[in-house]
Amino acid sequence: TSNSFHISPLEPHGTTESYVNLTRRARAVQDRVRRPLTLAEKILYAHLAKPDQELERGKSHLSLLPKMQMPNSPSFNSYPLPSRTSASPRQYTRTTLSLHDTVPQRIWTEAERVNKEVYAFLKSASDKYGIAYWKPGAGILHQIIFERYAYPGGFMIGTDSHTPNAAGLGMLAIGCGGMEGVDVMAGAAYEVMHPKIIGVHLKGKLNGWASAKDVILKLASILTVKGATSHIIEYHGTGVASLSATGMATIGNMGAEVGATSSVFPYTPSMGEYLRLTGREGIAKAAEGEGEWYLKSDEGVEYDRHIEIDLSTLEPHVNGPFTPDLSHAISQLSRNTSANPSWPSDLSAALIGSCTNSSYEDFHRSASLIKQASSAGLKPKIPFLVAPGSEEIRATLERDGILDVFTEEAGGKLLANACGACVGQWERDDMVQGEKNSIVSSFNRNFSGRQDGNRGTHSFVSNPEIVTAMAYGASLHFNPLTDNLPLPNGETFRFSPPTGDVWPQGGYERTLEHYQAPRDDGSDVELELNPKSERIQLIRAFAGWNGKDRQEVEMLVKVKGKCTTDHISAAGPWYKYRGHLENISGKPSQENLLIGAVNAENDKVNLVRNRMTGEYDTVPSVAKSYRDAGRKWIIIGGDNYGEGSSREVAAMSPRYMGCFAVIAKSMARLHETNLKKQGVLPLFIDAADHEKIQGSETMEIQNIAGLQPGSQLTLRLCGKDRSTEGIRIPLRHSMTAREIGWFKAGSALNVLRNSTGA
Ligand code: SF4
Repeated sequence: TSNSFHISPLEPHGTTESYVNLTRRARAVQDRVRRPLTLAEKILYAHLAKPDQELERGKSHLSLLPKMQMPNSPSFNSYPLPSRTSASPRQYTRTTLSLHDTVPQRIWTEAERVNKEVYAFLKSASDKYGIAYWKPGAGILHQIIFERYAYPGGFMIGTDSHTPNAAGLGMLAIGCGGMEGVDVMAGAAYEVMHPKIIGVHLKGKLNGWASAKDVILKLASILTVKGATSHIIEYHGTGVASLSATGMATIGNMGAEVGATSSVFPYTPSMGEYLRLTGREGIAKAAEGEGEWYLKSDEGVEYDRHIEIDLSTLEPHVNGPFTPDLSHAISQLSRNTSANPSWPSDLSAALIGSCTNSSYEDFHRSASLIKQASSAGLKPKIPFLVAPGSEEIRATLERDGILDVFTEEAGGKLLANACGACVGQWERDDMVQGEKNSIVSSFNRNFSGRQDGNRGTHSFVSNPEIVTAMAYGASLHFNPLTDNLPLPNGETFRFSPPTGDVWPQGGYERTLEHYQAPRDDGSDVELELNPKSERIQLIRAFAGWNGKDRQEVEMLVKVKGKCTTDHISAAGPWYKYRGHLENISGKPSQENLLIGAVNAENDKVNLVRNRMTGEYDTVPSVAKSYRDAGRKWIIIGGDNYGEGSSREVAAMSPRYMGCFAVIAKSMARLHETNLKKQGVLPLFIDAADHEKIQGSETMEIQNIAGLQPGSQLTLRLCGKDRSTEGIRIPLRHSMTAREIGWFKAGSALNVLRNSTGA
């Protein structure tokens, strides 16, 4: 239509959108349901694959047509992509690939050398399938999406749990597994349970040391890591307009830490300013014109839960260790540290940047603190690491002299514009494995071993300004708002609150050095894939269900406490094998299956009893011995099993090693979906029944043949000889008919293969 806009000015022949169309589609649904719509509902309903589908929050399964799909490199590495000709007439969903997490903390030339074959494969796949390709060095996927592609009221999916970073521009962005991404690329609809909606009313205005990050750090304390599971968080209220678009991106990004399906913000003038600064004036104009009704919620909407946060009185927070919802207002941190003597109170490193906090505002405000400290003659007492989220922000900071403030004045170490230290690729040499220490970062995750692979590292997350100041205080007892630092001359120094510009006055450095436009025709391109590669391996089809109603299973492990995807499939040195299922699952000396999970039977990590031999061994070895003996096995999980990243390999690796089912009290949405996609049964058990499982029993899963939406399965526990009737424990599931089809076929990929012949 004449009022349509190009989603990305980079690709003038690419996908277009129009607020007239989006409004028409959302209004049509509103005419049917006859009630005010939240913003999240308007966006979801404007992207329904079938306009007449059922729309009950928390009950109906939605079929949606995303406008964009963004795979990150590890999830993209291993998929034999469906051929172009197999796509539906709807054509490919707009897809962009960035290599953000393949890059170690150092420099691109090094990344190019060690990842040569991976990059060659990804480049050839991008060429073949018409995918925009951002080469190593471009930055982190979420930052690139924000800088180039996100738009108010749009709907996208991305194979990374922090995809909702795009909320900063009013986009509804959902993190998904790699297999879901492949489906959508091939033209299939994206399916998700209709999320419930949490309304977060923001009032007042941030001031002093508080930043947008503190909104989500505070919210994490209210909601906990699973409190927003299967919910969209919709922010509203007068406080929203006082936040910058980049600040809202930080809040949306960390919605993943409370389990949210996504987060949304109504259109604000700050979004318009950012769009105009980044060459997207047409989108801003359309949003302010035809988008007026569509880009905010209606009066009188109902939320499933309501929370209020007063920005005027919000304190900076420091959350951790080991979980992002263990929240401490800065005024309480010292007291809470004293109450937990097992936490090392001295800090050993401070890190800022990452996809969570890489805005100009973040760096400019942090730099203002460094300048104060340098004027007083102070330097950070601990290593201070700076990881810009993209080349655009790095180059802009360099041009404006801000990078020099970090590297020259503060003696900070500049890391590559990539995930690096956030995902275990921190080449840290000042700690030995197991050594207890504390670090503080402006990142989003702080699970055990996440940053440096050391389970002794107590990781805390905070806003970048607090992290910067704490590099000087170097202690969890230091509150930069109230505490003085001693100066060499015997006097004392206290920080004043940070200040800084939201936007660079000279605009952003819009470099396209790392961009490769999608090819119109890739039919002549061959995938560059060495069959002997140790890094990339095409997936072989998993075997389908054997048709039997009962399945004897061995319990591999009953995990105790938190079991994130990092515990199931750690990053760090294993990361490079994530495109090679066999190597990451079972390569000797590189084994990486549930090696971080605590065994409830003996409170030990990576030591479980082999139920066939009675001997204790590592988790991967025992899993392998079951698989080699043709025995299926199960995992018993606790609460929010599989929280954390969208890491598909945390489902694929167990599947490859013979996992039949994961039985947990509750499960993170993304991980549950990933298990379904890989043909593993995700099953739910009541807490009282969970207690009954000791591990010494013989186990059998029953009623598999009757599997249908809403049906119940049974876990039968009995004595060794299986002669006794034993205990029968009911198991629930949330699978739709389509998802049951994936289980029966062996995986969603098998279904796709069968339907396309790819
Ligand atoms: Fe990268 Fe960390 Fe952001 Fe994930 S959370 S995209 S690993 S910077």
